[in-house]
Amino acid sequence: MTCDLCQTAMEEVKLPKTIKGNGFRIVIEEMPTIRCPKCGDTYYDLEESEKIREVVSYFNRRLACLKKVA
Ligand SMILES: [Zn+2]
Repeated sequence: MTCDLCQTAMEEVKLPKTIKGNGFRIVIEEMPTIRCPKCGDTYYDLEESEKIREVVSYFNRRLACLKKVA
């Protein structure tokens, strides 16, 4: 895979990632990330993006339940 911006070969690294949702924040310490060593542009592969979406929707549902109880 090459960078869309500068055509440099991308490298796979693990970076911390913070996800902000509606009233919560999730910190993933080692998120597999594809990064361009030249311009620092980052991508997540489809599988990882899918996982993030699942986690966020899980927390959104949990928070919705908690709000109903409180
Ligand atoms: Zn680049």
